[in-house]
Amino acid sequence: RKSLPRKPAWIRVKAPTSTGYHETRALLREKRLHTVCEEAACPNIGECWHQKHATVMILGDTCTRACAFCNVKTGMPKPVDPDEPRHLAEVVVTMGLEHVVITSVDRDDLPDGGAHQFVRCIEAIRKARPETTIEILTPDFLRKPGAVEAVVAARPDVYNHNLETVPRLYRGVRPGARYFHSLRLLQKVKELDPSIFTKSGIMVGLGEEKREVLQVMDDMRSAEIDFLTIGQYLQPTPRHHRVERFVEPAEFESYARAARAKGFLMVSASPLTRSSYHAGADFARLRAA
Ligand code: SF4
Ligand code: SF4
Repeated sequence: RKSLPRKPAWIRVKAPTSTGYHETRALLREKRLHTVCEEAACPNIGECWHQKHATVMILGDTCTRACAFCNVKTGMPKPVDPDEPRHLAEVVVTMGLEHVVITSVDRDDLPDGGAHQFVRCIEAIRKARPETTIEILTPDFLRKPGAVEAVVAARPDVYNHNLETVPRLYRGVRPGARYFHSLRLLQKVKELDPSIFTKSGIMVGLGEEKREVLQVMDDMRSAEIDFLTIGQYLQPTPRHHRVERFVEPAEFESYARAARAKGFLMVSASPLTRSSYHAGADFARLRAA
């Protein structure tokens, strides 16, 4: 029987038990919203939900892709829920969110890849609580012409799309995606609207080499990506891609220093960094600076 590797001391996290955590959970259930926090079995859920920070996953809980690192279920998704944008806006208002992160499963089955549901969600939040800053983390919209243009036109504050890993490992880690397509997507966002901050991230511990990580940073800067996140990959179940290595905190620090020197405006690199980890606080700090 396969089992998961033992985590080093710097990865262990506390079980979520606070009142804030339970309140967030109850509200999300009531509004029938899915979160990547739960679906991806994120280790930060106790901390984030306690602070009322969650990453909402729109367009259902079933993905048309099957990335080797991801815990979201794969299959034929249900039809798009027309009430989802309203429910999401209600959660933003009830929780008084200053910053919201919206992501989705991949919807290769939809002609627009789900782009217009992102647009409707952005519009609903802008209307209900205009001061909330909106960060979206979209699929790659591969073979969905017009999708990225539509989402950019809705003017999110931050447009995030993760490259996830170095190009050499795509076939095993992110089948169905194309490294240069993802990079180009982010470059296009900047070309279409330079006032939108662009963001991307990778996981480490999947078998990448250090020089490959530095190359990805250079590629990202060539595409004018503003923010970078780097976190440790954790294997959700024995069926998923194995952890090749637990990267030590000092190595994350060296990645962070390299990234700052390359000109990223915001960098988060640590074992528990996730693309949405502390996203609101970091963005508020940047805007205040
Ligand atoms: Fe959710 Fe992101 Fe926090 Fe994880 S880091 S619990 S995905 S908001
Ligand atoms: Fe998971 Fe996104 Fe890959 Fe779907 S496309 S399997 S949600 S990482």
